[in-house]
Formats: sequence, C-alpha cells, structure tokens
Amino acid sequence: MLEKILDTIDLYINSLQKDYPKALTDNLWQVIINLRKYSDGQPRDDHGRWTDGGGGDSSSSSGGMSSGRNNEQTPNTNTSKIEQVGNVDFNDKQAVLKVLSDAEKEFVDLPYEKCRTVTSDGKVWDTTGTSGTVDNSEIEKMGSSLKGSYSYHNHPKNETYFSFSGEDAGDFISKGEEMSIASDYKYLYFMQRQSNTVSADYSTVKRDFNYILQTDVYQLSINEMIDIDEDGYHQTIETLSKKYNFSYRRVAKHG
Ligand SMILES: [Zn+2]
Repeated sequence: MLEKILDTIDLYINSLQKDYPKALTDNLWQVIINLRKYSDGQPRDDHGRWTDGGGGDSSSSSGGMSSGRNNEQTPNTNTSKIEQVGNVDFNDKQAVLKVLSDAEKEFVDLPYEKCRTVTSDGKVWDTTGTSGTVDNSEIEKMGSSLKGSYSYHNHPKNETYFSFSGEDAGDFISKGEEMSIASDYKYLYFMQRQSNTVSADYSTVKRDFNYILQTDVYQLSINEMIDIDEDGYHQTIETLSKKYNFSYRRVAKHG
C-alpha cells in the first residue's frame, strides 16, 4: 500500500520539477527516500523493528559529509574507503592548511566526493566517497578522534549546491571539528569553530538546517531575493552559523 502511494508521489514530484527549484524538489525526494525505508515490504524482527538497516534511528547518527543531493543510487551507507596517507606537524597550522589546499587542487574536479582530513594526532587521511556523499567518520574507528580536526572535501559539479549541506554542518558541530573546508568548481567555503560555538548532536543540527531552508530561505526564493539553486544552502548555512556561533565564509574562486 505504502509503496503504491510513494510511487504516486514520485510521479508528482517529477511533474513539480519542471516548475520548482531543484533544491525544493530534491528535498521532497529525500522525504520519499526516508519513507521508503519504512515501507511495508521491509523485513522486521518480532518486535516490529526493521532488520535490514532501514528505518531505525539512522537520522541521529552521522550521515557523512555530503553535497546535500540525495538519491537512491548514492545512499549514505558505508561505501567510503579510508586510508592514512601521511603525517604532518599539527602545531604548524600553515602546514596543515597546505595539506588541505593541496587536496583542493587534487580533488575538486573529481566526479565523486573525496575528503582529506588532518586529525589532531597529525595523521592525514583520505576518504573516498560517492558522487553525492563522503563520510570520514570511520577514522574514529581507526583510533583517531575527529575532535579538533581539519578537513577538505569536494562537491562534484553535477551535485553541488555551492555551500555546505545539512550533513556537512551536522558532522562539523557534532564531531567537534575545528575547520571544515569544501569547494566546487565555482566557490570555496569554510566553517571554523569559535570559542563559544554551541555543541549539538548531528540530528539537531540537520533538523535546524532543514527548518531554516524550508522557511526563511524558501521565502527569500519565493520573493525572488535569491536564486535558491546557487544561494539556498549558502543562506541556510549563514543563518545556521549565527545560531551556533561558528565562522562561515564563501568566496567565489574566479572573478
Ligand atoms: Zn559536503
């Protein structure tokens, strides 16, 4: 039954895509993807819980960094591959930032997301993701904390919303990361912790992101104050940065 309803809604969103900004329709897609996790045909244990990883409280755990586009071909699953690729003197912040700017040159044109992370023990890690997401949280299973870490990840041309996604912000806040940098072919953007940055869990940050996007930012778009495809996430992160007291900047790479 639910499957039939979801199929109908799929068709409806497809028709909406002709007239509405893709940030809005992609958001609706995400609702559908979440609902499909709870579909009738999914195996359950005898307490009625889903037994194949769908549903449950996945929204409260890390979904990984993401460009924010979601589709069923690139779910936030453990598809990331992690390897330590070097070491750097973590006290030498110029050297740490050089590692990230080198990564930007290396990764920015890739058709999939890749993340380079420097953890506070000086280890340098590369995480390879998919076209729409990369999750560096597995680093913590390898013995290094993401607290205080610096990272860079790319947003592929066909996937970018030209700023951080709710997933990116959720990871940055909940993991206590010091600095998160990302870029696409057009913009470079970064979030940096301040002494009074508010801590919160991943799902709270993501919920706030979605709320700001779906209220204030959609209103700006409806009033034709912004181009939501290019500036929707940027406006959302800007508002979020004031709520959580972190630094946020976006700069155009050319011109
Ligand atoms: Zn991202």
